[in-house]
Amino acid sequence: MIITALLQRQTQRGGYLMPADLRAVAEEQVVPLHRVQSLVSFYPHFRTAPPPKVEVHICRDMSCHLRGSVPMTQRIEHWAEEKYGKQVEVCGVSCLGRCDRAPAALINEQLYVLRDEGELKTIIDSHWHENPLAPDTDRALAELKVGKWEMDVYTGTSNYEAVRRYINDPKPHDLLTSLETAGLLGMGGAGGRTFKKWAEVMEAKGTDKFIVCNADESEPGTFKDRDILLATPHLVIEGMILAGLVVGASRGWVYMRHEYPEQIASITSEIARAKQLGVLGRDMLGSGRSFELAVFVSPGNYICGEQTALIEALENNRAEPRIRPPELVTNGYQNQPTLLNNVETFAWVPAVVLRSAGQWFADQGRKVGPWVGDQSNSMKGKRLFSISGDVARPGVYEVPTGIPLGELIDDFCGGMAEGKEIVAVALSGPSGGLVPATIPIKLLSRGFVKACVPEGVTEFKIRELPLDINISRAIGLMIGAGIVVYGTGANVIAEALACSLFFSRESCGKCVPCRIGSQKITEIGAQLLRGELTRSELPVIRNIALELSQVMTATSICGLGQVASNPIRSVLDYFPELVEQACRKINPVTHPAKAAEITPE
Ligand code: SF4
Repeated sequence: MIITALLQRQTQRGGYLMPADLRAVAEEQVVPLHRVQSLVSFYPHFRTAPPPKVEVHICRDMSCHLRGSVPMTQRIEHWAEEKYGKQVEVCGVSCLGRCDRAPAALINEQLYVLRDEGELKTIIDSHWHENPLAPDTDRALAELKVGKWEMDVYTGTSNYEAVRRYINDPKPHDLLTSLETAGLLGMGGAGGRTFKKWAEVMEAKGTDKFIVCNADESEPGTFKDRDILLATPHLVIEGMILAGLVVGASRGWVYMRHEYPEQIASITSEIARAKQLGVLGRDMLGSGRSFELAVFVSPGNYICGEQTALIEALENNRAEPRIRPPELVTNGYQNQPTLLNNVETFAWVPAVVLRSAGQWFADQGRKVGPWVGDQSNSMKGKRLFSISGDVARPGVYEVPTGIPLGELIDDFCGGMAEGKEIVAVALSGPSGGLVPATIPIKLLSRGFVKACVPEGVTEFKIRELPLDINISRAIGLMIGAGIVVYGTGANVIAEALACSLFFSRESCGKCVPCRIGSQKITEIGAQLLRGELTRSELPVIRNIALELSQVMTATSICGLGQVASNPIRSVLDYFPELVEQACRKINPVTHPAKAAEITPE
């Protein structure tokens, strides 16, 4: 494993790689040196120069951005340079997955959540004096969930009852029927039917088959897997074992982001426990069946969470998404049938098996109001959401699918923070853009409006949106696992621009429409924010944004390019008044001609 070998050498060397390390890895792994160099230059976690004495990475996305992390980074950078010179390096970094305790920072690879700037300075000082303050832990939060989630069917210690039952009476088709009855959908965002994917891998022909759990949770605003991996690792491992048995796989990996050290330890020790119990490894429970599991630590990069890019990383290649088809279910790892699911999807499987073959789920989902249309395709049961931003109690909550957003905010999160009102909501991290508290019906999907909206209704309140992937799709909105709520006082254009910047930074650059388009649409947002556009330019700007968005959606290889235009498009579409206001604030010094165009109100 070239990537694993490089990570080990980097740790041994003290945080960087020398040319000799690259040559040694190339020799050990019997690959050309240029192959090793291509990996080191691709993954941001690899360094080829010694790190500074203190390296400070402050999250700049969504909830951290809302808490002012970007100007804070600039101030801290200035302070650190004056006090310590170049030996303290301060910069922004993409989401660290601690949106519920924003802002967050990684200091010398240790995770800290920050109450204020003073605290950050104290932590930096402690690292400078080589007596670092203890990092924060996710464990306390995760422990609150132990025994609380209905997802966890085991009240005491899990002894892998679902695996035992399956091995005693293996009926793959029955298990697939249970997944179908439960209505379990993929929890990674796409929302595909789990039983269908499992059936496709089961039926696919191959010399071997593989199971992969995508635990590379890097979407800004999303941190539910973080808690599942710590609170209920046994569910993830059991779901993967069952998947392996059903589809006939020999091996699997839990692909984990390196910023989750506690979770990596938790899953590693659970794999060891499952082996001790005899439910994992060779000759499981004396059945003659074997299935091996291992942890693969990601060398970083948001794009690794894209399913085909993740497989490329597992194969020790640069994590550039593949053109599809063929799909992973037939041509995945090593070109063999591969089942890849999200952490939460696997974690629900034991409950599906042990709770009346999925029937329990059918009784759990919330029936939503009649004017949201056909609910036959809706997910049943419960699911987890990560919610952060301007709510009183950000966190991970298990809720019945289909409850309205307002109920999640009021009943689970304790309402809005400090009496704020909703100004905007990002329903799927940055991917779905920002939507306002009230949306004119005319901006929602026409098919939905025709089929479901009663005569005379002109507005849709976002609080009433049922948290259901299929219903929100029918309306024309995206729902993901990470919701960020922006309250009174939030600068919607600045927040959308931060989301757009995230995509332009994380584009892997493989396709031109995504690489260039994400920069161009970000520049439109930046011009709006800087007050460089006039109202007379708006129609042209809207057209450019629309055309860019259409080209990017139609021609980008992967989902990143397909959604990268959404944050700025959403501002132009859903917040016309804010956009108009921004166009009245032309800076007369930098843009005198444009400023002269504006007629005073
Ligand atoms: Fe890379 Fe963007 Fe193309 Fe995806 S769409 S492969 S992120 S360039």
